[in-house]
Amino acid sequence: MRDESLKFLKEIVATPSPSGFEQPVAELFREYVRPYAHRLTTDVMGNVTAIINPEASMRFMYAGHMDEVGFIVHYIDDDGFLFFSTIGGTDVATEIGQRVWVHGKEPILGVVGRKAIQTFKASDTSQTPWLMELWIDIGASSREEALKVVEVGSAVTIHGELAALQGNLAVGRAFDNKVGLLIGAEVLRCLSEEGGVHPGVGLYILGTVQEEIGSRGAMTSAFNIAPRTGLAIDMGVAMDYPRARAEDQGKLDLGKGPAITQGANTNPVVFKLLKSVAEKEGLPYQLQAVGSSSPTDARVMQQNRGGVASGVLSVPLRYMHTPSEVVCLDDVQTTIDLVCAYCRQLTPEIDFTPR
Ligand SMILES: [Zn+2]
Repeated sequence: MRDESLKFLKEIVATPSPSGFEQPVAELFREYVRPYAHRLTTDVMGNVTAIINPEASMRFMYAGHMDEVGFIVHYIDDDGFLFFSTIGGTDVATEIGQRVWVHGKEPILGVVGRKAIQTFKASDTSQTPWLMELWIDIGASSREEALKVVEVGSAVTIHGELAALQGNLAVGRAFDNKVGLLIGAEVLRCLSEEGGVHPGVGLYILGTVQEEIGSRGAMTSAFNIAPRTGLAIDMGVAMDYPRARAEDQGKLDLGKGPAITQGANTNPVVFKLLKSVAEKEGLPYQLQAVGSSSPTDARVMQQNRGGVASGVLSVPLRYMHTPSEVVCLDDVQTTIDLVCAYCRQLTPEIDFTPR
């Protein structure tokens, strides 16, 4: 990956964007893609769309969600402690003792507290963490003092910047789905620099909002764009850690390329094209079987209007929705290359009807 691309990933990882509060990351995305887009729009929901060939009648939609899981302050007690709800599905066990940013008038440092382990009895079932037993301590000594810097409704995100692990692995918060956003930006840049795509194909690269709470941004933007086909690029739960049982949930390894989802979420023509282009380009990929509804933006994209020929690519990720997600940077580059190759072969003549 180019240094500038890695720098952009670091920036968006360091920038908070819990669902409903995506604006700072949206601004960085706009800045990055502006030179490569024929048209750049932001809609009333907050979705950002970078377009190549806006006049083309055959439209392809790339959905990479900009939002991340987080928290929101719902109560401040007399002693200045903040109580909070989750935004999206987080792993409560990983939150205790974390440093957080509370996004009040400006970002305020806080820590997630709960009762001390020394006060637990051996039989105490409360060792099992429960969100309602946690609070955020910003150091304020009263509600009045806390209210000077935060309020009910302030968003909260966990600290954590991108750092390198061994091999070509990286750890960071919110790779889900800042990685998908980076891939979209890079696909746009690469295709634009090489002269674009087929003139009859409109490429709509989106940073969508509110995926973690039900793909609301993808739903409204798919309606507006009315694409014929599209891909959702998101993170997939890696199954290559100790005691994972492939027999239970399948296999998905870091470093072996993105997973192409097989099942009802993927249009058969899209699936075949993704596989054949990966093989032609010599790009590694894995297969992931999803029998029910896709937990990605592809779900709403597919069911938009009269139906959209959709597909899902998942970049393997360990420890999803924790403060320390782990991704392989080779998989990120492979996914960029695969989506670029996929877009290059799109023509207005392709019939996506399953036969
Ligand atoms: Zn995601």
